[in-house]
Amino acid sequence: MCYAIPGKVIEIKDKIARIEYFGEQKQAINEIDELCVGDYIYAQGGYVIKLIPKPEAESILATWKETFFDLQEVDLRLSKMDLEESGLDRKLTVILDKAAEGIQLKEQELLYLLNLKDPKELGLLYKFANFLRQKHLKNSCCVHGIIEFSNYCSQGCAYCGISTHNKDINRYRMTKEEIYQAADIAINKYGFQALVLQSGEDSHYLVDDLCEIVSTIKKRWPCLIFASFGEVGLDGIGKLYKAGARGLLMRFESSNPEVYSKLHPGRDIKSRLAHLEAAYKLGYLIITGGLVGLPGQTNEDLLNDILLTRRLKTEMYTFGPFLPHPMTPLADTPPPLTKDILKVLAVARLADPVNAKILVTTGFETLDPKARELGLMAGANSVMLNVTPEKFSKNYTIYPNRAHSSENIQSQIETTLTLLRSIGRAPTDLGVAL
Ligand code: SAH
Repeated sequence: MCYAIPGKVIEIKDKIARIEYFGEQKQAINEIDELCVGDYIYAQGGYVIKLIPKPEAESILATWKETFFDLQEVDLRLSKMDLEESGLDRKLTVILDKAAEGIQLKEQELLYLLNLKDPKELGLLYKFANFLRQKHLKNSCCVHGIIEFSNYCSQGCAYCGISTHNKDINRYRMTKEEIYQAADIAINKYGFQALVLQSGEDSHYLVDDLCEIVSTIKKRWPCLIFASFGEVGLDGIGKLYKAGARGLLMRFESSNPEVYSKLHPGRDIKSRLAHLEAAYKLGYLIITGGLVGLPGQTNEDLLNDILLTRRLKTEMYTFGPFLPHPMTPLADTPPPLTKDILKVLAVARLADPVNAKILVTTGFETLDPKARELGLMAGANSVMLNVTPEKFSKNYTIYPNRAHSSENIQSQIETTLTLLRSIGRAPTDLGVAL
């Protein structure tokens, strides 16, 4: 977003640019023909997004310089830990010690962590996940924007408030022009560089329309676009890539085929996974994960969800709570607890310590107003802000009382930056660390 840090290109080899800022080096895929060594750029999700004129970049870097090191210091202080002093269960410290040494944990060990109940032990798990996050990814934090452009949906997902179950909802569909306007504001007024375009499965927009929307935005403004339109077919995934989409946000919701098929009448998890796999092969960045707290879901299922997310070579993990919506068949199913979500975020970090971007979802913030800070201190390092115009966004009721739904973009940004600063994080998504 607008507060991201410009990087200097120090080498270009084929399509890979090596970038440096404040002594740190990253690499990013470059699709800008005129890019040269010495140029300053912004990158997001491992892609070079745009060139920044030198004087502008130098002035931004000058303002960042002190803050950047101050933030790193705060982050380092908050993420320090000493396992020897913890005085807790031996099995737990042995597992964490292993992880600290960079040894990949076994499934049984990850399950042991998901089964923890004692608040002190859980506290240690979260703290350790935060320690690993800092160790491997420093204080970098991704801040993406999301535009929810249609709440029409042809699917009957049992939990979802915009599904066909809900007959008591104001359906809306933004026009192409309204979508462009929202993207323009997000990119040019607020400085977002990565945008998710999301909708229900709305047959009004054919794949060709979706392609037109993606390519128009890409042509007009430099940005990274994540498509999140549901199952558009493998052909559709290919067409959207050609149109310029470089990311796919699609949760598999639950890796347990039985749980999945009960919640998604007429759907097969294989089809969703085929979309994710095809997208990865094409070069998409993948954002996926599942719902936590679904009826019939066990900790073994959650472990499998985390392992599946890792297997899918996911760029960003998205795990959030199931929240009951009164107009759905799951209206009376209680939501999970804050600790259930934190555990999943922390165990995801332990399962994929080096590369994972882990999102604190709006669903989690709806469950617990402190979720963002709690999640970021338990292994997570990404947030997504809603940049849908308010008059539409209030009707994107996948679950009730969505956090931030009546908050304007400016205020969301300010609150986010205040929080990030207070815990020493910087929105510095500059690609893959070298
Ligand atoms: N059509 C797109 C987007 C679906 S809505 C797709 O199929 O991927 C986006 C996400 O909202 C879903 O993936 C689901 O995980 C989440 N969601 C829907 N209903 C929810 C609920 N009641 N509680 C929590 N999350 C919910």
